[in-house]
Amino acid sequence: MLEFINQELETQKQAGLYRSLNAVTKNNGRLIEIDGKQLVNFCSNNYLGLANHPKIVEQAATTLKEFGVGATGSALICGWTKYHEALVKKLAAYKKRAAAILFPTGYQANLGAITALVGEEDTVIIDRLNHASIIDACHLSKAKLQVYKHRDLASLEAVLKRSAKFKKRLIVTDTVFSMDGDLAPLAEIVKLAKRYDAITLADYAHATGVVELPGEPEIVMGTLSKALGSLGGFIAGSEELIDFLRNKARSFIYTTALPPSACAAAIAALEVMEQEPERRERLWSNINYFHSSAFSPIIPIIIGDNEKTVRVSRQLYDRGFFVSAIRPPTVPDGEARLRITITSEHTKEDLECLASSLRELIPA
Ligand code: PMP
Repeated sequence: MLEFINQELETQKQAGLYRSLNAVTKNNGRLIEIDGKQLVNFCSNNYLGLANHPKIVEQAATTLKEFGVGATGSALICGWTKYHEALVKKLAAYKKRAAAILFPTGYQANLGAITALVGEEDTVIIDRLNHASIIDACHLSKAKLQVYKHRDLASLEAVLKRSAKFKKRLIVTDTVFSMDGDLAPLAEIVKLAKRYDAITLADYAHATGVVELPGEPEIVMGTLSKALGSLGGFIAGSEELIDFLRNKARSFIYTTALPPSACAAAIAALEVMEQEPERRERLWSNINYFHSSAFSPIIPIIIGDNEKTVRVSRQLYDRGFFVSAIRPPTVPDGEARLRITITSEHTKEDLECLASSLRELIPA
C-alpha cells in the first residue's frame, strides 16, 4: 500500500530533486561545522549575526530561567506573557504601525492573516515568485487566486481591472524576494491597490533590519527568524486589524504561543539593531564588495540543471564554503541555482575566496 512512497522518492532522485538533511554541530554566525568539517556559512538568514550575539543570548537565557522552556498554552489561554506584550509593542513601533500580533513562525503569520482576511467571495492577487507560505495560505483561504508577472505593474493592473466583481481584493507581495534577492516595487503596488480599492499585505521576512522600502502597505508581515536571529512571525497594522486577527487567525488561536525566551531574544535583537548600526553598515559593505549591483543579501547564481547545481554546491563544500543548492519546486523548473547569502560576519577574505572559487567552478 505504501509502495507509492518509494516510487515517489525514486522519481525525486531520478530528477535530481531528492532532499536530505545536514546535522550542524557548531554555528557561530560566520562558521558552521558539519561532519567535523568547518565551513564558511553562505546560506543562513542570520544577516546581522544576531543569532549568536552575547547580549541577546544572555537575555534569552535569563528568560528561560524565569519562565521555563515553553509558553505552556496558546496565546488566548495562558501562553501570552509580559515578554509577548513587550515584543508586540516594540514591533509595532519599529514598523510604525498601531499594533502587532505574534505567530509561532513567519509561515504561520502568512497563513493566519491571509486565511482570516479573504474567503470564497474574494480574490487574492500575488506575484508569481512569492514565498511558499503565501501560496499555501492562498490555497487554504479558498479565495480566487490570481497571479501577476514578477514585479510587473502592468500585469498587476490588468488583474485588478478584471477583479471588480470580487467582494474584497487582497494583493500580497514579498518585499525582498527570497530566492532572487530582488525588491518589489512596493510604493507603486500600494498606489495601484488604493486606486482599485484593494488591500496590500507586504511580506518583510528578508527586509526587516536589512533594507527599507518606500511604500506603506496596510498590512506588514515579518519574521523574527532572519535578521533578528530568533524564531517567530508577526503581523503589524491598525488596532482593528490586529484585534480582528486575534479573533480570527486560526494559526494564532489554535497553536501554542512562542516561548517567552524567543520573545525576549527578539526584544534584545531589536535593541541591539538600534545600538549597533555598524552591523548593518558592515552587511551592506560586504554585499557591495561581493556584488556591486545586488539589492539585498540574497544573491542567486542561476545554473539551471538540478544535478549540476548540486554538484557545484558539493564542490564548494569540499573547498570549505556552505552554499545551498536550490531546486524546484522552491524555484521554477529549469532555474535551479546557488543561493548565496551574505552577512555582516563575513570577512572580505571570505568573500574574495568564494568569488574566486565560483569563477573557477562556473566559468562565464
Ligand atoms: N516569507 C518569506 C518571504 C520567507 O522567505 C520565509 C522563510 N523562508 C517566510 C515567509 C517564513 O518565515 P519563517 O521561517 O519565520 O516561518
